[in-house]
Amino acid sequence: MPKTSGKKRTPKTKNKADIARTIEMMTKQYGPFSQEPRLPPIDEMVFTILSQHTSDINSSRAYRRLMERFVTLDAVASAEISEIETAIAPGGLAKIKAPRIKAVLNKVLELNGSLDLSFLREMPLNDAKAWLRQLPGIGPKSAGIVLSFSLGMPAMAIDTHIFRVSQRLGVIGPKVSVDKAHDILEDKVDPEEVFNFHVSYINHGRQVCRAQRPLCPECVVGALCPSRKKFMSKADLAELAAQEENTLAGSSGAPMPHFPQSETS
Ligand code: SF4
Repeated sequence: MPKTSGKKRTPKTKNKADIARTIEMMTKQYGPFSQEPRLPPIDEMVFTILSQHTSDINSSRAYRRLMERFVTLDAVASAEISEIETAIAPGGLAKIKAPRIKAVLNKVLELNGSLDLSFLREMPLNDAKAWLRQLPGIGPKSAGIVLSFSLGMPAMAIDTHIFRVSQRLGVIGPKVSVDKAHDILEDKVDPEEVFNFHVSYINHGRQVCRAQRPLCPECVVGALCPSRKKFMSKADLAELAAQEENTLAGSSGAPMPHFPQSETS
């Protein structure tokens, strides 16, 4: 009998073409999405700090209050932490976020001489990421948000939904960390598709591939998903396979509701 090594084989992850297909299918389902710059890069950075562990509504309210109170982020940089804390209180965790905001603004001023981060757009992506990552409290996700949403660069910003969907779909391996996922996905997704990837995967994670009880029978990329069998009974899988066969043969499958939605968590 042939000997086996006893080692578990690492599951194969999806290649670029397969990932492109999932993006196309999800974009068709939830999109189209338009990429418009939201805030200047330094404001986007402050906004990412305000949005940590709170809802979009609360972080927007905190940002608005901060700007009403100080008008410019230069004024925030030189303000007392306690004043910043009072202004951003509606966003929650103000005691933690106020010193973080002040520290990051002052570090940018120290390194750059101003709070204008538009120079990052002229840098190679990896250099721009490295520049932002040297700032206190700025990790790969925050750097990706600033570069992608404010400067329109093809940077990944992996949130909890994108990470979960990517793992379940086998786009990244089961043991890959969130930090590492940023680099892997930037290699595997075409630069012009990074934005669609981001928004479509978030929509999919929020609406269908939820953390608890994902709606696999309704999933637009279910046929490409190695995890589907974990979440569905054998009988349901067999029924779904028959339905998919009929759909391929030309009969109409069950339509999915369309949920256009602007993004991010
Ligand atoms: S089949 Fe299920 S687990 Fe796989 S991507 Fe779709 S919803 Fe998620």
